Amino acid sequence: MAYQVTLIPGDGIGPEVSDAARRVLDATGLGIAWDVREAGLTALESQGDVLPGETLASLKRNKVGLKGPMTTPIGSGFRSVNVGLRQALGLYANLRPGKSLAGVQSVFHDIDLVVIRENLEGMYTGIEFDAGTTEAAEVIDAINERSATKIGPSAAISIKVITPENSRRIVEYAFAYARANGRRQVTAVHKANIMKFADGLFLREAQAVAERYPDIAFNDRIVDNMCMQLMQKPQDYDVLVMPNLYGDILSDLVAGMVGGLGVAPSGNIGPDGAVFEAIHGSAPSHAGKNEANPTAMILSGALMLRHLGEREAAERVEGAVAEVIAAGRDVTYDLRPDRDPRKAAGTTGMTEAIVAAMGS
Ligand code: NAD
Repeated sequence: MAYQVTLIPGDGIGPEVSDAARRVLDATGLGIAWDVREAGLTALESQGDVLPGETLASLKRNKVGLKGPMTTPIGSGFRSVNVGLRQALGLYANLRPGKSLAGVQSVFHDIDLVVIRENLEGMYTGIEFDAGTTEAAEVIDAINERSATKIGPSAAISIKVITPENSRRIVEYAFAYARANGRRQVTAVHKANIMKFADGLFLREAQAVAERYPDIAFNDRIVDNMCMQLMQKPQDYDVLVMPNLYGDILSDLVAGMVGGLGVAPSGNIGPDGAVFEAIHGSAPSHAGKNEANPTAMILSGALMLRHLGEREAAERVEGAVAEVIAAGRDVTYDLRPDRDPRKAAGTTGMTEAIVAAMGS
């Protein structure tokens, strides 16, 4: 077998859309050996843990995984599978391509963007001090001693952390991705005009990395202006790289521009592994009905192939998906203008059509 890949089917519609992705990736003929493991509610019920050690060990061993959506167990005290995976595998890069597909309803057309988000620091370090606590008061006092701008005693505090190492690493990833995938330009997105130190540092590191990639164009945009420009002239942009919070928001913005949940793939990449997944959840009301749209999961599989260096196979998968959606005959209900489930293909029917299109 050429590749050993951890497959986590997940919960709700997860097993159905994961099975669809597996069938399509098998049809590439690459010979992927699937190491099927549990996580999420399914794992909690059978093994008492939402992220069992054997699943993590499999991901660490294989260094690449394809993950279905998980149902978040009701009640507190459960560790988050996504946070657990991010920490254990150091998944610092969140990769979110947004490409228009003919046949998918959207007010935008011909979008072809890639959002690369720093996943581990920025505004999401989790370092927070609640209003009215002793810790918050101590932090406020320490800041007021050192800062000309004073903070009132009733404030809650969240700490934003930007480091040169992690800024360099995410921008390097963006340029390497651009080069490996034939992209023409990288744009660094920031707010360095206001956050001169934290975002200023990010921007300086981005500029330094860009000098080492003379074959890829580079520019930068302030995040609010970036949002407006994406609405007005998205064709001017290509790969966008940014700190955590901006990436969280802009990646959903771009997903919305190309048709939303059903068609949006993603990847989380780190030095010790990479996990690819659809951005949608487990959609429990559709589970077991053979009606979920498998596109996002299949396109996540294609992203995984690109990560493995199998660009040609990835293009075959993406081409077949695009062909089936454009034809509009063998698509799930959510891709039909009338959203009529009686006229729609099921998950398996759409998957079979995609596999057939790969051979054509
Ligand atoms: P959801 O994404 O599961 O569903 C939102 C809406 O989109 C629903 O109406 C659903 O019918 C529709 N939808 C989503 N994916 C679809 C698909 N492939 N085909 C057709 N329709 C689809 O979000 P939710 O309802 O807020 O969450 C359900 C569960 O999933 C929750 O337990 C939530 O915590 C979890 N969740 C998990 C992930 C993940 O594992 N990455 C992400 C988001 C939500």
